[in-house]
Amino acid sequence: MRSFIFASTLLVSVLPSLAAQVPRTERRRWIAPGTNVTDDPRRIPIPAGYNAPVGTIVLKGGRVWDGTGAPARTATVVITRNHISAILPASSGDWPKDARVIDVAGKTVMPGLIDLHTHIDYRQGGNSDARARSRADGALRGAERLRYYIESGITSLRDTGSDGETPFLLKEWINEGRLVGPRIFAAGSIITGRGGHGAEPDIAGGKYLSAVREAAGPADWRDAVREAVAKGADFIKVTSHFSAEEIQAAVDEAHDLGVKITADAETIYIERAVRAGIDMIEHPLPRTDETIRLMAEKKVESDPTLIPYQIIFRLSGGYFGSTSRRFTFSDSANFALVKKMKDAGITLGIGTDLVVDWFQYLPWPYHEEMRNFVKLGYTVPEVLGIATRVNAQMLDMGDKLGTLEVGKLADVLILNGNPDEKLDDIAKVDIVIRDGRVQVQGGQLVYPHHVTLPPPGQAPAPGADIKR
Ligand SMILES: [Zn+2]
Repeated sequence: MRSFIFASTLLVSVLPSLAAQVPRTERRRWIAPGTNVTDDPRRIPIPAGYNAPVGTIVLKGGRVWDGTGAPARTATVVITRNHISAILPASSGDWPKDARVIDVAGKTVMPGLIDLHTHIDYRQGGNSDARARSRADGALRGAERLRYYIESGITSLRDTGSDGETPFLLKEWINEGRLVGPRIFAAGSIITGRGGHGAEPDIAGGKYLSAVREAAGPADWRDAVREAVAKGADFIKVTSHFSAEEIQAAVDEAHDLGVKITADAETIYIERAVRAGIDMIEHPLPRTDETIRLMAEKKVESDPTLIPYQIIFRLSGGYFGSTSRRFTFSDSANFALVKKMKDAGITLGIGTDLVVDWFQYLPWPYHEEMRNFVKLGYTVPEVLGIATRVNAQMLDMGDKLGTLEVGKLADVLILNGNPDEKLDDIAKVDIVIRDGRVQVQGGQLVYPHHVTLPPPGQAPAPGADIKR
């Protein structure tokens, strides 16, 4: 394929979207299996043991619902550093003497939940424009909201648009164990055309979102994708509007750089993005039956986010004043559209798209979106599988997250109930482990003691670098 590209510039001009046919994971074939890489979709090589906590945690004798499709069974899950190292029969005691053993008999042990859509630094209600645009305030807003997610049993969060370096810095602090919270997979700024969604002033003349990178023309769209990846983007997020040439440039560049690209779009823009080879479409916004058919044919996934619109309808009776969203919104039309996508066989994921002060509704919005999926016709175990395994695959992290299997990253949720039988039990959060670190216990946040350094000139005690 590569030599084919070099063979003839004439051929390339005949096949302008050839680059889009190179799978985004193509870059990974240059990384030999067994190479240590970052725990994000970029898979950057790193030294062995980088940033992982030390020690062993044993979750003894729980009711293990592993997310693979198998029914719950009694077993013991062993976590070594930040990976699941064994799943043992309940009768086994095969773990190191110094392991931290937690008796979870009678509780359900399952993979952590994943939320595919948020804006972690979004302005709070009542913020002045100056306060809303303060990146320091944005980082603090984000740091506060992280706890709401982890307390809800959500161990991974996909940030679909926040300002500047904020989501990348929060991700780094979480990865280093310095902040308690879910993993962050971030797009950075949203890319859109001049005055596109996110870049339009509101009807009262308020300033548009600061988390937006306006781009004009295919070369600038390509550049905007490169800027995002240079900052650390795990995926690319674009919004309508854009020309066919602009979205094609963005899709090709994202795939060349080895990351997925998703669009918050509607109507003709969804069709354009799908034809350009986009990986995913956010939201339940209008599109033709032909576009839905094309999404299914091209295996374009969708994060339909019914819940934020349900919140908007409850709060203000409708969606008003956007110059980029000029069509009628209704709850029933949204639901019917998502049902059509399900019936067409499109892969759907769970995301909540919380903004303003809605984070404080957590965990209700996530649970309500799960109940929306039950209303769409999924069984309760299927909905749990979407919230974990399918969402991990949509993050491009299916080989590392989403199920409890040996070798996977240790993101574990322990509940006082059986959510695979009774969905509402998903609210009964007892323990949450993210990346081998206990973050919630007894339903309460666990903030570890800071790493105490010895006075200058004294050697640190063995194990003093434990960041659990
Ligand atoms: Zn959003």
